[in-house]
Amino acid sequence: MTSPHLASPAARYLAGYPPELIAQAESLHADGRLADYLQRRYPERHEVRSDSALFAYVQDLKTRHLRNAAPLNSVNYDAKLRVLQHALGTHTRRTQVQGAKLKMRREIRVATLFRDAPAALLRMIVVHELAHLRELDHNKAFYALCQHMEPDYFQLEFDLRLYLMSLEDAA
Ligand SMILES: [Zn+2]
Repeated sequence: MTSPHLASPAARYLAGYPPELIAQAESLHADGRLADYLQRRYPERHEVRSDSALFAYVQDLKTRHLRNAAPLNSVNYDAKLRVLQHALGTHTRRTQVQGAKLKMRREIRVATLFRDAPAALLRMIVVHELAHLRELDHNKAFYALCQHMEPDYFQLEFDLRLYLMSLEDAA
C-alpha cells in the first residue's frame, strides 16, 4: 500500500479523479505551469475581504437559489480551516440549548485562503457549503444542487484542487 505522503501532489489533491486527468495535472505541475494556467483561466479576483462582506455574498447566493432554507447564523473566514481535509470546507449544525427550546445553529466557515483566490473559486466553495444546508453528504442530490447553483461546478472543483496544489508550491 502506498503511503499518502509518498503519493505525488496531483495524486493527493485529485484522489478519485480519472488517471489521465491526474497525469495532465502532474505534467502542468512538473513544468511549473500550474499557476500560469490558473491565472489565465481565472483572471478575475473578488472584493469579498471581510467577514461581513462574506456574509452578504453568501446571503445573496442563498436568496437566489435556496430561498426556503433555514437562515444562516454566521458566516466567517477561518484561518485554521484545512480545505482538503475538511472536504472543501466545513458546515456545522450545532444544536444550542436556549432556555427550554433547542435551536439549530447554522454556520458557514470558509478557509481564509479564499480571500485571495479567484472569484470563481470563492463562488464554488460557497455553493458547496450552501448545498450542505440541504444535503449533509456528498451524494447525488448534493452535487445536483451544486450544479443547479453553479453549472460549471465540477470544472471549478477540479480547478480548485489545482489551485491548492499551486499554493503548496508557493509555500
Ligand atoms: Zn462538503
